[in-house]
Amino acid sequence: MKQITGMYQWGGEARSLAATAFISDDHISIQSNEGEHLNQCLNEQAKFSDAIPGLPVDLIFNNNDRFIPDNPQFRWSAQKSGQRIPELLERNWLTVVIALILVPGFVWLMINKVIPGASEAVVPLIPDRVVAELSEQTLAVIDKIHLDESKLSNERQKAITDQWNQVLNQLALPPDQYTLKFRSFSAGPNAFALPDGTVIITDQIVELTADKPDVLTSVLLHEIGHVHHQHGMKLATQSVATSVLFAMMFGDIEGAGEVVLGTGTALMQSAFSRDMESEADTYAFKQLTALGMSPELFAEAMERLQQAHETDLPESEWLDYLSSHPDTQERIERARQF
Ligand SMILES: [Zn+2]
Repeated sequence: MKQITGMYQWGGEARSLAATAFISDDHISIQSNEGEHLNQCLNEQAKFSDAIPGLPVDLIFNNNDRFIPDNPQFRWSAQKSGQRIPELLERNWLTVVIALILVPGFVWLMINKVIPGASEAVVPLIPDRVVAELSEQTLAVIDKIHLDESKLSNERQKAITDQWNQVLNQLALPPDQYTLKFRSFSAGPNAFALPDGTVIITDQIVELTADKPDVLTSVLLHEIGHVHHQHGMKLATQSVATSVLFAMMFGDIEGAGEVVLGTGTALMQSAFSRDMESEADTYAFKQLTALGMSPELFAEAMERLQQAHETDLPESEWLDYLSSHPDTQERIERARQF
């Protein structure tokens, strides 16, 4: 049995009295200094005021009467730790400040430096089978949500495929690694590449470049650039790593599992970074030059796409050309200066 002295205060009244609290294993009782019983409660039902350094912690009864210890340092053993958080924060304010600065810094560093760096190292180690599986899943999802079968005639598809194979051949690129597929897309002219080397072009981009097939070639070379630099897999691994990081920070590891399984969708929704677009552009410029063509063709492709999307098309974030809209003018300039 522990005793502490203090003041008993009646709730809602100005009346108070010097008293002593008797603390036993299961309850606390208050007696006046004359030995009169004033109040009592069980330990687990006791309520307390917040613990603030330098101030006593009041024991509060259900009828709002209070017992205020004389010693401001005294802490009730029945007080749950949750009620002591303000005090812990105040005592450890330096830790709190450091955490407030370091946590965002850590997250920034992870997302901008560590994860991209790690993905550069990890991507080449991913087996082709996984890359193929992810690509197929992604195309299946995009097909279901956004794309329809191509309405181009077989002859036109064959003519474009022949032109594609000729380009691959001239640049000594393996034809079994790069496959061209045709689709129709209600939101207009577009092209995109999957990590396994499948390049999808829409009927609408074929129509947009029908008078000048080399313009389409420049777009296809840009897409091959994304495959060559493994941008899709880098994006996918970064998205998984970021999700796992957040799951670890917020303690939701099961959620992370779902994210890993949903990578195909993540790949579809996240845009390539500016650096990735520049890298793919540079690849296209070099290959156009190697073919004896001008990078100006790519500038023309960008202008045609920009115009088509400005005039009549709804926003769509996921295909290659729309995602990089704000930088279009800059990219056109780069092509002209190359
Ligand atoms: Zn691109």
